[in-house]
Amino acid sequence: MIDLHMHTSRCGHASGTPEEYLEAAAAAGVSVMCFTDHLPLPTGTPRALEYAMPSEQLAQYVGDIRGLAVRSARAGGPEVLLGIEADWIEGRDDEIRRVCDESGFDMVLGSVHFVDGWAFDDPDLTDRYAEWDITELWDRYFATLSTAAGSGLFDVMAHPDLVKKFGHLPDVDPTPWYERAAEVFAAAGMALEVNTAGLRKPCAELYPAPGFLRAAHRRGIPVTCGSDAHRPGEVGAGMDAARDALLEAGYRSVVVFRGRVPEEVPL
Ligand code: ZN
Ligand code: FE
Ligand code: FE
Ligand code: ZN
Repeated sequence: MIDLHMHTSRCGHASGTPEEYLEAAAAAGVSVMCFTDHLPLPTGTPRALEYAMPSEQLAQYVGDIRGLAVRSARAGGPEVLLGIEADWIEGRDDEIRRVCDESGFDMVLGSVHFVDGWAFDDPDLTDRYAEWDITELWDRYFATLSTAAGSGLFDVMAHPDLVKKFGHLPDVDPTPWYERAAEVFAAAGMALEVNTAGLRKPCAELYPAPGFLRAAHRRGIPVTCGSDAHRPGEVGAGMDAARDALLEAGYRSVVVFRGRVPEEVPL
């Protein structure tokens, strides 16, 4: 089993040390795991330290995970990869690119957690859904997702339909959003993530929705899969459902990134 998305206590809203995640991964039968703590946010971002690690900790994070990878390999444990989850923030391209190049990550997940500066996935800020027409919000979200995907900064777009997290669904057919996003992903050579955290959220389904995954498969977009674990007990969670959804959409393999190069692994 492969799990390429997980967080540790470093990011301010998850619990558990990398060692505890490694133990949990081994116990869950995970053979390849990738840590993807949140890339530090620019100073001045509201609640920056509740969303991501402080910038002075990035080097320690890199060192910790690389060290753990060596120890796990020596002990015959799961393969440990070093990734990062980076927010798409308009106008911050150069900085994100530089930090990611310097850190030598195996994989960079790109995420859209903000629409017009609002962290729409923050459970403390859900009041603001009431201010939106949900169709407009989805439009805005998918436009931002496409800009992020086309930026060339990321290897994989994480939880690609996160906008559904709290169950605010538009009353129109979402297929055109999925098709346009898939087109952008394909043109940009991006992979997409099947993320099982949605199963544990009010939307109660995988990210992305089945129709989005089928649109991605038709365009030959590679996929990764991740639990988005925010505590050790969630490592590997929902992976059977992810595998079923992938097979149903027509996928027969996923990809694992090492040194930012994807390699196919049969399902
Ligand atoms: Zn998180
Ligand atoms: Fe995220
Ligand atoms: Fe995450
Ligand atoms: Zn995430």
